[in-house]
Amino acid sequence: MRLILLGPPGAGKGTQSERLVKTYGIPQLSTGDMLRAAVKAGTPVGLKAKAVMDAGGLVSDEIVIGIIKDRIKEADAAKGFILDGFPRTVAQAEALDTLLKAENMNLDAIVELKVDEKALLARIENRARETVAAGGTVRADDNPESFKIRLDAYREQTAPVSAYYAGQGRLKTVDGMAPIDDVTKALDKALG
Ligand code: ADP
Repeated sequence: MRLILLGPPGAGKGTQSERLVKTYGIPQLSTGDMLRAAVKAGTPVGLKAKAVMDAGGLVSDEIVIGIIKDRIKEADAAKGFILDGFPRTVAQAEALDTLLKAENMNLDAIVELKVDEKALLARIENRARETVAAGGTVRADDNPESFKIRLDAYREQTAPVSAYYAGQGRLKTVDGMAPIDDVTKALDKALG
């Protein structure tokens, strides 16, 4: 199963990916997680990406395409994968098509979690609160200022990715405003 999960920040891609990982036994490839790991490790990619990520902007296509190119070839991705947070621009979607073709891989599903934008900031603030309560560190971009920029980036650069796949007749949508378990059920149905 090779799957792309699309949707704005706070749509629930991470939550649902975690569940899909268990159901299908395939890894979640989150470019956000990979970039945060690179920042933490202080790699050249991390050093380049940190400021733009903290501010809520998008890291360059070149960097994320390079990361994904290597990652999908790793052994644990042979059976499939869930792409979470990638592709985030039409250029990334086109690059992904080229990459997959070269590897003789097909996508089984592209699913967008549809959510009401007005609910998103509250979800992000809630995530930050829960992280603090659990003794964790809040993501540097989980604050209202960066969130606004993330949402703008989504509208301007990532919403066209949905249109790209919809135009090819490949986009499925699931209601991301439903309770978490219901979203999982709807996803299973969309994938089944
Ligand atoms: P979100 O909560 O928006 O889903 P992510 O954890 O997916 O956040 O990503 C966090 C940040 O990492 C983004 O705001 C962006 O700076 C960077 N990032 C992640 N994936 C990509 C990508 N595919 N292209 C460009 N930047 C990315």
